[in-house]
Amino acid sequence: MVSRTIPVDPFDLVIIGGTGDLARRKILPALFRRFCAGQMGEGSQVIGAARTEMDTSAYRTMVEEAIAEFGGDEKSSKAKLKKFIALISYVTLDAKGDTGWDELAEAVKSEHVRAFYFSVGPNLFGDLAKRLQKHGMADDLCRIVVEKPFGRDLESARELNKVLARHFDESQIYRIDHYLGKETVQNLMAVRFGNMLFEPLWNSQYVDHIQITVAESVGVGGRGGYYDRSGAMRDMVQNHLMQLFCLIAMEPPAKFDPDSVRDEKLKVIRALDPVTPDNIVRGQYEATETKPSYRKQVENRDSNTESFVALKANISNWRWAGTPFYLRTGKRLRERASEITVIFKDAPHSIFEEDSGRHRNILTIKLQPNEGIVLDVTIKEPGPGGMRLIDVPLDMTFAEALGPDQAEFPDAYERLIMDVIRGNQTLFMRGDEVEAAWAWTDPIIADFERGDPPLAYATGSSGPDEALALIHRDGRAWREIKA
Ligand code: NAD
Repeated sequence: MVSRTIPVDPFDLVIIGGTGDLARRKILPALFRRFCAGQMGEGSQVIGAARTEMDTSAYRTMVEEAIAEFGGDEKSSKAKLKKFIALISYVTLDAKGDTGWDELAEAVKSEHVRAFYFSVGPNLFGDLAKRLQKHGMADDLCRIVVEKPFGRDLESARELNKVLARHFDESQIYRIDHYLGKETVQNLMAVRFGNMLFEPLWNSQYVDHIQITVAESVGVGGRGGYYDRSGAMRDMVQNHLMQLFCLIAMEPPAKFDPDSVRDEKLKVIRALDPVTPDNIVRGQYEATETKPSYRKQVENRDSNTESFVALKANISNWRWAGTPFYLRTGKRLRERASEITVIFKDAPHSIFEEDSGRHRNILTIKLQPNEGIVLDVTIKEPGPGGMRLIDVPLDMTFAEALGPDQAEFPDAYERLIMDVIRGNQTLFMRGDEVEAAWAWTDPIIADFERGDPPLAYATGSSGPDEALALIHRDGRAWREIKA
């Protein structure tokens, strides 16, 4: 893997919940890849900590298995794996009791930056914070990383913030949203604020509307129980889509530093109008011949939780008043494809009589599966026959534009974990941002609870027909969901 590796001082990373799914699938493989890239200085250590009773040797075997399964290209490097495994140890620890805390305090090195990744349910965050402090590990060198879901509504998010603030300063709390670690998401800021070309047009005078789609082709899988208690609005919109929304809509920050960026994001959320029920559609996927329905998968035949949501949002500020934002996300849709699309307005007047078609500049920021940026521009179709216009893509798909070597970049978790170690909070959510996002989301969810059940949609479709109507009635159309 090619990456410009900035060396960092040796550090300790403690994964609390180190035997769990997230640790095995994401955190440990990400650390291994950073190790292979030379970014874990000599003397760094990774400590797995969880309730499961096991010793370091058994944990190391578990880590090896996880890397074999989820480690990507680097997993074949046996020599590197051996060295990485040597940095790992394990402590049996109970978040709610005294087991393991003295041992953990002894294992961490007092002179190192120390990150504690809370890879456990949020109900344990308070206990963990309290015990880290009690056992002398919550000093200035300490940082904590907390996973989503950060609360399930404004009240619980406030409570979580309050609990963490009792033991840690905001500058020590890293609320992770892995969407912000994606290369293209950061590139979105580079494109907006590194070029003269876009920013003058980035407003309601020139932008007709913006679409954000995060589509998954899979269903809820093994996460049925959790998902059925949250739904697409809590699981995706409140965090991932909202973060993308903020980055696309925010004012240029004065600097690319954590508080300047997060101040601007917060202003976007605060300027959002409430979403009325006629501007939102929610759905739930049906069974196919071979795949079970949502209700069957979550084992709740009366479930009214949505696996799809589409909504129209408006921002009441000078830049965006009059430009709607259409957001949608769902499971079991036709393809796994996530993108943000900025659709510019038509040219005010066409000078080409032969041309009757509509041409629009469209900027597409593709997030997955292929990261890249494409700008559709109108040109003359080559050859004789008059001024016939066609739209062609200026394709900045990274693999093509930069070559395969340059286009391989660390995955989101790798980047974000190293940002924690470096002490850079720019790509992490601040407490007030999370609360503002819930303040906007809560009334929508309350309307869901009072309103009709979600509409059925077919697996492999683009969601319920009503979601198409939501945008059609404004004389617009969703972009096709395609990878
Ligand atoms: P999991 O159930 O697979 O693992 C939980 C871990 O916590 C285990 O290691 C378990 O031993 C440990 N644990 C539970 N109670 C404990 C206690 N009292 N003391 C010490 N350790 C305890 O869960 P997961 O899927 O790994 O998720 C962890 C967190 O990350 C959750 O908050 C989840 O919502 C969030 N998350 C997970 C994913 C994912 O892909 N798995 C994605 C995003 C967010």
